[in-house]
Amino acid sequence: MPPPVLRFAPSPNGFLHLGHAFSALLNFQSARQREGRLLLRIEDIDATRCRPEFETAIYQDLAWLGVSWERPVRRQSEHLADYRAALDRLAALGVLYPSFESRAEIAALVKAREANGAWPRDPDGAPLYPGTAKPLPAIDRDRRLRSGAPFALRLDMEAARRLAGDLAWIERGSGPDGETGEILARPEIWGDVVLARKDIPTSYHLSVVIDDALQGVTEVMRGLDLFRSTAVHRLLQKILDLPQPVYHHHDLIRDSEGRKLSKSSEATGLRELRARGITPAQVRGLVGLP
Ligand code: GLU
Repeated sequence: MPPPVLRFAPSPNGFLHLGHAFSALLNFQSARQREGRLLLRIEDIDATRCRPEFETAIYQDLAWLGVSWERPVRRQSEHLADYRAALDRLAALGVLYPSFESRAEIAALVKAREANGAWPRDPDGAPLYPGTAKPLPAIDRDRRLRSGAPFALRLDMEAARRLAGDLAWIERGSGPDGETGEILARPEIWGDVVLARKDIPTSYHLSVVIDDALQGVTEVMRGLDLFRSTAVHRLLQKILDLPQPVYHHHDLIRDSEGRKLSKSSEATGLRELRARGITPAQVRGLVGLP
C-alpha cells in the first residue's frame, strides 16, 4: 500500500490553541507510525481575517511542539486560479448560480417564511438559503453581474444531488452520535451553500476539496466540528470527479465549561502556555496524549 498522506490545515486568523495542538499531533503521529507524509496547508482565503503574523506563529508553534511537515507549504491565497477552474466546471455542469441578496435581505426572506412555520436550519444553526435567486432568468443574472453588484455563487443542491446520486464516505474516527464506518452523506442539510463570493472568490468547502485532491491527501484527520461538512465535500468530490480520501474526525478539546476552544482565549493559547513555562510534553498531557 502506498504511504498515507495526511495534512494539517489551519487558518491564520488567530493563534493556535490546545485544540490545534491536539489535531496537529494526531496527524503527525499517525503519519509517523505508518511511514506516511504530513503536509501543512495554510487556509488563508479570507484576506479580511488572516494575517501574516499568525502564519509565522503557526510555523513557530508547530515546530515548538515537535511537529514537522513537508515543504513547500501550500498557501490557499496563492492558488485562486485552481478554485476558479473548479467553479468553471461546476458552472458548465449547471450546478452553480449567483445570488445577490445581502445578509439582511436573506434574513428578512427567512423571517417571512417562518411566519408559515419553522424554516429549516443547517447543522451550524444558520437558516437555509431560501433559493430566491435560483429561478432568475439568465438575462437578469448577467445584467446584475455586469452592474458590479456584490454576489455569492451558490451550489444548486438539488441539481448537484441529482447529478451525484448516492453518496457515502468512510469514517475511521466517529461522528457526534458515534457514527463510524460507511457514512451516508446528506449534503442537502446544508441547502444551497455558497462556494464563492465576489470579494472572496472561493470558499472553505470548495478550496478544501480541491486542495485535498491536488495534494494527493489520502486521509483527512480533523476535528469533529467538521464531520457534517464532509457531506458537502463528498458531493463536490463526486461531481468534480476527484479522488475520495478517508476521513477521521477526532474529539474536540473543550474548556472547563465544555465549550469548544476559541482562538481568542488566552487560557489555552500555545503562546501563552509557552510563556508560562509549560513544555511541549506537558501540552501532550493536557490534550490527553501519552
Ligand atoms: N481550516 C480549517 C480550520 O482551521 C480546517 C479545515 C479542515 O481540516 O478541513 O478549522
